[in-house]
Amino acid sequence: MTPVLDGLIEDITDGRQTSDPSAREVRVDNPATGRPLISLAADDVAAALRAADQASAVAEAWAATSARERSGILMRTFTTMIERRELLADLISAENGKSHADALGEVDYAAEYFRWYAEEAVRIRGEVFDSPNGANRVLVTHEPVGLCLLITPWNFPAAMATRKIGPAIAAGCTAILKPASETPLTALAIADILRESGLPDGVLNVVVTDTAGKVVRALLDDGRVRMLSFTGSTEVGRILLAQASETVIKTAMELGGNAPFLVLDDADVDAALDGALIAKMRNGGQACTAANRFYVADSRHDEFVEGLVERMGAITVGDPAESSTQCGPLINAEAVRKAQELVDDALSRGARLALGGETPDGPGSFYPPTVLVDVPADARILHEEVFGPVAPVVRFTSDDEALAAANDTVHGLVSYLYTGDLARGLRLSARLEAGMVALNRGLVSDPAAPFGGVKQSGLGREGSHEGLHEYLETKYVATTW
Ligand code: ADP
Repeated sequence: MTPVLDGLIEDITDGRQTSDPSAREVRVDNPATGRPLISLAADDVAAALRAADQASAVAEAWAATSARERSGILMRTFTTMIERRELLADLISAENGKSHADALGEVDYAAEYFRWYAEEAVRIRGEVFDSPNGANRVLVTHEPVGLCLLITPWNFPAAMATRKIGPAIAAGCTAILKPASETPLTALAIADILRESGLPDGVLNVVVTDTAGKVVRALLDDGRVRMLSFTGSTEVGRILLAQASETVIKTAMELGGNAPFLVLDDADVDAALDGALIAKMRNGGQACTAANRFYVADSRHDEFVEGLVERMGAITVGDPAESSTQCGPLINAEAVRKAQELVDDALSRGARLALGGETPDGPGSFYPPTVLVDVPADARILHEEVFGPVAPVVRFTSDDEALAAANDTVHGLVSYLYTGDLARGLRLSARLEAGMVALNRGLVSDPAAPFGGVKQSGLGREGSHEGLHEYLETKYVATTW
């Protein structure tokens, strides 16, 4: 670690480091070395409820600030994040393990949510119209929903946080952010920049805990939280939806995916390979949008597989601290075990290994880029998120067969589709059961676009103007004048 990064970690964890050896702690490890970066005192239920107290104390004054003021804070935070992108990227790499290039991409993407919502904050509009029966006028306004609980995962520790904090602040809400215990440092760094940019104390409160289930339950039971925005697994999403039902609060859920990547017989295979590398290898495959299974037209199969093996085989895997590293480790040993288990399962059912497939010895939670071919339909890897750099490839002979396979999942976040015929692509896009379709593209994420899934991939949308409305309540006043 560089002295500058050391200094940043000291600053953002000031007051949170453990001094009492018997107290509960959250230990943050570097996945590339397996060594601890720092231990923080774990916030318990009482600390989380104090955060709710602080948020409640400032809620009314904060909701009354002008949109221009909130917009200014967001814009200054955007600028500062971009100015400090190298250091923030180092922090993300250190706690998450992604390569420096991936981490820089994440900082830019994360900061853009602040710029976008700085621009949207001043465009919250209502409407006025005459009631059709002529009895009165209908006045519609949008008010901040209130205290929001924001729960984020470890795979994009900056972007998953800014995608929620940005619209919450733009709307005039107060918030409690609970980052994943694997990656709390990035969240603390972002909260610090917001404060430096003028965000009043108490508006955003970061709760770092090793007992997420208990702390979140207590916060929801407390009754002051009015909105829950969660990004994580479908499994935990279901638990939280049930809990949120008890106090009938608004929820936005970005849950798991199982993205298909379709290459039709008329596709530009080179372009499809470029897209495949982004869709599969961004963040080492640890993204809910990651291409999880590849369906390739029989006539283009061998060409695609040859290119995929060549390109994935050329990727340098290593510690993100090395400048040559293109792909870092997975988040932890458990993630490696799961990837290996899914590869072994596919092989035991008759798939063939075209690249990688073996967990390396040595420190750090590394897994090599892996390509599996002739993967049978019952292989678990086609039905479960692998969350690693593993690409299973399946052949198909007709569009209907490919569509049926693509839609054969409880998930529906994103689907990738490559074809040389845009009209054919648009027709198939309409039949893909997904909240997002990447048509001849390897990436959909964009702060200006509505991000979200259908089926068990979630509820609601993040980003775009729609994302702001998750944090607003509609009020209607009937009146005459
Ligand atoms: P992942 O597989 O990406 O770790 P999880 O759904 O387990 O996804 O975790 C996403 C976020 O949800 C993390 O911040 C984690 O601490 C939190 N979390 C996990 N279990 C619970 C729970 N029972 N209640 C509330 N939050 C939880």
